[in-house]
Amino acid sequence: MTANADQVVDSIAALSRASYRDITLYSVPRDDVALDLSDNTNLWGAPPAALRVIASARAETISRYPVAYEPSLAAALADYLGVSADMIACGCGSDDVLDSAIRAFGRQGEMLCLPDPSFSMIPVFTRTNGMVPVAMALTPGLGIDVDAILETGARIIYLCTPNNPTGGALSRATVEEIVERAPGLVMIDQAYVEFGGDDFIDLARSGRPVIVTRTMSKAFGLAGLRVGYGVGAPELITEVLKARGPYKVSSIAERAAIATLKDDRAWVSERIEEVVANRSRLRAELETRGIDTLESAANFVLAPVNECVALAGRLEQLGVRVRAMPWLRGIGDAIRVAVGPWEMMRRFLDALEEATR
Ligand code: PMP
Repeated sequence: MTANADQVVDSIAALSRASYRDITLYSVPRDDVALDLSDNTNLWGAPPAALRVIASARAETISRYPVAYEPSLAAALADYLGVSADMIACGCGSDDVLDSAIRAFGRQGEMLCLPDPSFSMIPVFTRTNGMVPVAMALTPGLGIDVDAILETGARIIYLCTPNNPTGGALSRATVEEIVERAPGLVMIDQAYVEFGGDDFIDLARSGRPVIVTRTMSKAFGLAGLRVGYGVGAPELITEVLKARGPYKVSSIAERAAIATLKDDRAWVSERIEEVVANRSRLRAELETRGIDTLESAANFVLAPVNECVALAGRLEQLGVRVRAMPWLRGIGDAIRVAVGPWEMMRRFLDALEEATR
């Protein structure tokens, strides 16, 4: 028996989870553009040690399965961070670790509280795991309202510092208070911590249920390999790994990430120094053009502008892609621009001048 196309559509609609209906696939433009400043990756490229590992890969690295749960990468990350390897859960990007942590600890119908604006995938992971996202406005100074967040009684609290898309970093006192008073899990997303703000890895040892997530997609230049990790108490990490499942980091990604941690830390540090210098310079250049930007501890700057979608469209026509962020709560329209080598920043500034003429 063959079903016609309408029947297939009807039966899939009937089978699919009601809570998924208004979730759309993540869509970002991938067609070529001369200069892409939209995704906050390392604009200097990939670490040389990672490229060497990939160029010289042996057949077994491809034909065999990786070792489940990547113990060698966990050991290399543990050495880098000064924690024990049983405190690390790797994943296919930190996306995977965040998603797995929500699945491991969130129960159907319970709340996950997050700041707004913040990382756009969190409400999606919350809903695909059967939880309910509760988005709390940032304070006028773009910090978080600790009491309002705690009053929700949410089982999971998500914090992001430095925050995407604002670039702002939370103070230690704020994060510690949330950790101290939270009724359940606190997830601290530090995807951009290499570029600024406090490092909260120590809170993973605080005896409280905390997971700090980080990534090799930004400062480490490995976004295409998809390597992220979470740091927490060993018992908590085991639960996250159960929810994640085995074989989520490929052997080639694991080897390249280990080589980067072993041989290219200096390369990464030099790039971070350049980001920090170019971030101030870019903000200053934008200010002289009458465009204020938010204080940023990340490798991007957020510039509130009018009609951001139209502006991003004009920039794209000129060969420069930035991320349009329409209607950010408490901020309004804005563009987010990744910070890279100054020659790229110069091309962005030239295009901006032309686009706003
Ligand atoms: N957290 C934040 C705040 C991000 O901006 C991103 C990527 N844009 C991620 C996590 C996920 O990054 P990845 O999966 O590449 O580690």
